[in-house]
Amino acid sequence: DAFGGMAEKLDKAFALLDGAKSLNAENVKAPLKDVRRALLEADVSLPVVRRFIARCEAKAVGMKVTKGVEPGQMLVKAVADELCELMGGVGAEGIKFRDDGEPTVILMAGLQGVGKTTACGKLSLAMRKQGKTVLLVATDVYRPAAIDQLKTLGTQIGVPVFDMGVDASPPEVAARGVRKAKEEDIDVVIVDTAGRLNIDEKLMSELKDTKLATKADETLLVVDAMTGQEAANLTASFNEAVEITGAILTKMDGDTRGGAALSVREVSGKPIKFTGVGEKMDALEPFYPERMTSRILGMGDIVSLVEKVQSEVKEAEAEKLKEKILKATFDFNDFVTQLEMMNNMGSMKQIMQMLPGTTKLSESEMEAAEKSFKIARSLINSMTKEERQFPDMLVASTTAESRRARIVKGSGRTEADLAQLIIMFGSMRGKMQQLSGELGGEAGNVGLQ
Ligand code: GDP
Repeated sequence: DAFGGMAEKLDKAFALLDGAKSLNAENVKAPLKDVRRALLEADVSLPVVRRFIARCEAKAVGMKVTKGVEPGQMLVKAVADELCELMGGVGAEGIKFRDDGEPTVILMAGLQGVGKTTACGKLSLAMRKQGKTVLLVATDVYRPAAIDQLKTLGTQIGVPVFDMGVDASPPEVAARGVRKAKEEDIDVVIVDTAGRLNIDEKLMSELKDTKLATKADETLLVVDAMTGQEAANLTASFNEAVEITGAILTKMDGDTRGGAALSVREVSGKPIKFTGVGEKMDALEPFYPERMTSRILGMGDIVSLVEKVQSEVKEAEAEKLKEKILKATFDFNDFVTQLEMMNNMGSMKQIMQMLPGTTKLSESEMEAAEKSFKIARSLINSMTKEERQFPDMLVASTTAESRRARIVKGSGRTEADLAQLIIMFGSMRGKMQQLSGELGGEAGNVGLQ
C-alpha cells in the first residue's frame, strides 16, 4: 500500500507534543522534523518537502489551542490542512466538458510504460458510464504495437478507435480523429499520444503540435506513481513544454511509496484528476486530496469527524452532537441524525475513514458498511422515540424481546440485522466514551494520555 507505515511514524511525531500547553516555534520543531523524514521516506522530492514543512510550521505556530483539543491534535490539523492544500484542496477535479456542442478533446501524454494506453481505456469507459459517446484516437505512429493495443482495448470496452496506420504524422492523425468525432457528433475524443522512454525535444514538439492541431481542452499527463520523486521533475518538464491541465497518477495500487501524489501539484500547479489503481478497465478513481490526506495521515479520530460534520451541517446541530459525544450520552436518535448527515454529504466513505478504528477499510468493506448503514436506518426508523433514546430497552428489559420482534417486522429486516446493529451501536458508543475521556468531556480537561 502507498504510504504504508507513514501514519504510525506521524503518530509518534505528534505524540511528542503530549503535555504541551501551546504550539510554538520550539516545540513544533521535533515533530515536524519527523514529518519531514516520513515524507522523504515516502519518496516526496526534497524541495517539495522543504516548502511543505515551512508552511506547516508557519501555520502551526500561533494556532489557538481551544478547550478539548490538544496541541498535538492541532498540529495534526495543521499538517492535514497543508497536506490537503498541497494536493489541490478539497474535492476532485474531473474533466471539464465543453458545452457548445463540440467534442471535448483530451490529450493523454506521458512516457512509455507509465500506463497511458491503459488510462485511455479506463477514461473512455468512465465517460461511457456517464452517458457520453467516446472516440479513441491512436497516434503512436512509431509503434504499431501501441496502435494495436489501443484497438484491442477499444474492442474490449466497446469504444471505437480511429487510426491512420503509421504513415501519417501524429498531429495529422489527431486532427483527423477530432474532425471525424465532430462529423459523427461524438462527445469526447481521447487522443493517445506517442510515449518515449525519455523526455526529448522531438516528443515535446510533437506533443505541442498535436495539442495545437486538436485544440485540446485537456492535456493530461499520465504519471507512474512508482517513479517517486522523479515524478516531480517529469511533471515540471511536461508542464513547461506543453502546459498540462492535470495529471493521472497510475499504479497507486502497487508497492509505491506514494510520494508522487504529493509532488505533482506543487511543481506544476495542476491537479491530479484521477488515479489508476489496477490493471483492469474499471480501476480508475477520481482523486480527492482530502481522502488522500486522511489515508496518508491515518488519523481517524473523532475530532476530524466533528470538524467534517461542522463544515457540512448547521453549526448548532454539530455542536449538539459534539456535546453528546463528549458527554457520552449518544443514543439511537443521534445515531440516526448522524446517518442523515452522512447521507446529505454523499461521502459516507470519507466519514467512515474518520471514525476511530476504521481507517484501513478497503473499498469493498466500505461498500459493505454503506449497506449495513442502510439497514441500520430502516431499523432505527421502526423504533419508538423511547427506544431510540434508551437503547438498552432493546436488550435489558422485560419487553426487550417483543420490542425487537416489532422493530424487525416494521423494518422488514431480520433479527440478525437488529442484533448486529445493537452490537455496532454498542461498540461505537464504547469508543465514544473512551474518546470522551481522552478528549476531556465531563470528567474535566485532562488531555490525551
Ligand atoms: P503505456 O506504454 O504508457 O501506454 O503503458 P500501458 O498502458 O501499456 O501500461 C503498462 C503496464 O502497466 C501494463 O502492464 C498495464 O497493465 C500496467 N498498468 C497500467 N495502469 C496500471 C495501474 O493503475 N495499476 C497497475 N497495477 N498496473 C497498471
